[in-house]
Amino acid sequence: MKKFKTMLIMAGAVLTTACGAVEEAGTEEISEDNQLNVVATTSMMADLMEIVGGENVDVTGLMGPGIDPHDYQPSSSDVNAMTEADIVAYNGLMLEERFVEVFEQLEQQGIFTIIAENALDESVLLDPEEDEEDLEYDPHIWFSITHWGTVTEYVANQLSEKDPDNEEYYQDNAQDYLAELDELRAYVEDRVEEVPEQSRYLVTAHDAFQYFGEEFGFEVVGLQGLNTQTEAGTGDISQLADFLGDNEINAVFVESSVSPRNIEALIEAARSRGHEVENAGELYSDALGSEEDGTGTYLEMYRSNVDTIVDGLAD
Ligand SMILES: [Zn+2]
Repeated sequence: MKKFKTMLIMAGAVLTTACGAVEEAGTEEISEDNQLNVVATTSMMADLMEIVGGENVDVTGLMGPGIDPHDYQPSSSDVNAMTEADIVAYNGLMLEERFVEVFEQLEQQGIFTIIAENALDESVLLDPEEDEEDLEYDPHIWFSITHWGTVTEYVANQLSEKDPDNEEYYQDNAQDYLAELDELRAYVEDRVEEVPEQSRYLVTAHDAFQYFGEEFGFEVVGLQGLNTQTEAGTGDISQLADFLGDNEINAVFVESSVSPRNIEALIEAARSRGHEVENAGELYSDALGSEEDGTGTYLEMYRSNVDTIVDGLAD
């Protein structure tokens, strides 16, 4: 605690507005009436913090439905919210590319962070395609249900470190959720059976689904790379149009957080080669959907994606 305060003072020069309402966190018991103030970057992390933290956390998510985390620039109010939070939760692996300096600032200030990246051993991370200079590993880890379970356990451990009095509560929440992730896995395995093996190709706007492909036996092709900032060239589009024809792939998918422009161009290019391809619907890739659409949680988002994929590819 003492170290934390010293660091806060040292960081005073960097801090512009925070410091107004500095309270001694940890002196009062954390509860429904005295919640930990959590700020999360992606909607996937916000969802998981709410699930494991339960009534003890008040979670603010910075990125809503349809927001692309590769491209999202934190506003000054985002930065203020993070520097005043008890806990900041984020994905890492350079998913939130424009947050790099803010994350460094948080570290200097001694803000307690929960970073999904830290839950996973490097050996389970997928390598990007060769021309992805900025990314060492594929950051879309939430699409592996196994990895998301590991992240769940890590979140429970980190929350317990921050608030040891409620360790049992966080661990129980995590265990309950792991059971739900098992149910989700069973659902996905069941539905995937409906797609003939030779049709298990997932062609989408950007390369977000490699972990899904690895776990459930799909070949995944993204028109753009792992990072939505790399533009798809006409060469990529015509190459992929050939690939669709060669492999008799009749369905491709758009993504909620990426413009459908390139996928539409791909469908056109395939058509001009005499191969009919349909836009089989929208997948949630780097952001959850909305509560109104019934896709506002990770579990709902995943089921919705799998339904869209299977309905699009099954005969
Ligand atoms: Zn992405």
